[in-house]
Amino acid sequence: MELSFLYHGFGIDRSYHYHATEYKDNSIILKLKSIPIKKVTCPHCGCTEVIRYGVIHRMIHNLPIGSKRTFLYLTVQRYQCKACGKVHQSDIPFTRGNVSYTYRFQRYVLDLLRLGGTITDVAKHLGVGWDMVKDIHKDYLKKKYSHPDISKVTKIGIDEFAVRKGHVYKTIVVDLDTGRIIHVGDGKGSDSLTAFWKKVKRNNIKIELVTSDMSAAYISSVAQNAPQAKHVYDKFHVVELVNDAVDKVRRSVWNQENDIEKRKLIKGTRWMLLSKSLDKFDEESRKRFDNILNTNKPLFEAYYLKEDLCQIWMQKSKAEGEEQLEYWCARARESKLTAMIKVANTLLAKRTGILAWYDCKMTNAVLEGTNNKVKVLKRKAFGYRDDEYFKLLLLGMKDETVKTE
Ligand SMILES: [Zn+2]
Repeated sequence: MELSFLYHGFGIDRSYHYHATEYKDNSIILKLKSIPIKKVTCPHCGCTEVIRYGVIHRMIHNLPIGSKRTFLYLTVQRYQCKACGKVHQSDIPFTRGNVSYTYRFQRYVLDLLRLGGTITDVAKHLGVGWDMVKDIHKDYLKKKYSHPDISKVTKIGIDEFAVRKGHVYKTIVVDLDTGRIIHVGDGKGSDSLTAFWKKVKRNNIKIELVTSDMSAAYISSVAQNAPQAKHVYDKFHVVELVNDAVDKVRRSVWNQENDIEKRKLIKGTRWMLLSKSLDKFDEESRKRFDNILNTNKPLFEAYYLKEDLCQIWMQKSKAEGEEQLEYWCARARESKLTAMIKVANTLLAKRTGILAWYDCKMTNAVLEGTNNKVKVLKRKAFGYRDDEYFKLLLLGMKDETVKTE
């Protein structure tokens, strides 16, 4: 086989010569031998007096030819140093370390993933294991994303999510200007942010704005590590808190109702109670919903408290926003609904951070977009059992559109 074909086709340079070809099953095996070099330097001590010391063999994946898998069967020369006695082997310029594929093969795998193939698709297509494709992708992500550049970051969003049902949490930090995830931490306590704050210090950057939920751990962590930053408690999370309370009210009403038919009706209201808009429901269900609200005081009150919550962020000034917040909390207390009173107490205690929104009017679009993408990735990542890979996927999420099943 012509050397120039091997070079142009597969990137095999002239330090190897072609020896033979073998056809086996559905594979083509190209046998290559490293060409002994005259002037060899010991990589351990720099001595140039070395002697040949046998050969080793390696079999590595090469680019396929059509539907045929091809392998390189390499015979690699080894040398022993006369001065230090250590043994080393000839370089293999078209692969690295102990991996079992060439650079070209690696690039081809990444191209196929980029074109929209899932890991399973690509592994099947190339006749290799799922793990090999995943590892190639992981290596690539590691090089590109394991150390995100945070030198221009000034506004961050901190958020947590459960990795799976149960209690495994991750904390992510999002650059609110770019939408990139710049940190993934384990758990949802302040520990999850330690490495991030260290990096902030090392880079000597000043964080100006932080958005997060109202968790005590995040609040104290931000106060300690970015005392100059304005800390806004995310509207999205306040809404979530109230939605949870509405659902608690619904469940307690359901529990207290003895009439089976009425119970069924109450159960069916969940989506309407929590819906952002009733427009998507047909007229009949809306009528039924109105009827349930009008005959059920706790549900009526919970529902309208939820609907009016957004008023807190719709005022012309921060002072008016504060009035709305107080008004809302007073109504919640008057409702005598335990779940709503609890929310009111939280809102009053955290009012500074909630109303800080008026100083910057940060929208949640970036965080919500990120959250939706995280949800999708999480579902897919369920089977990985490779935490590092999952973190890298999160860090590269904004730029990579790889499907990862
Ligand atoms: Zn040596």
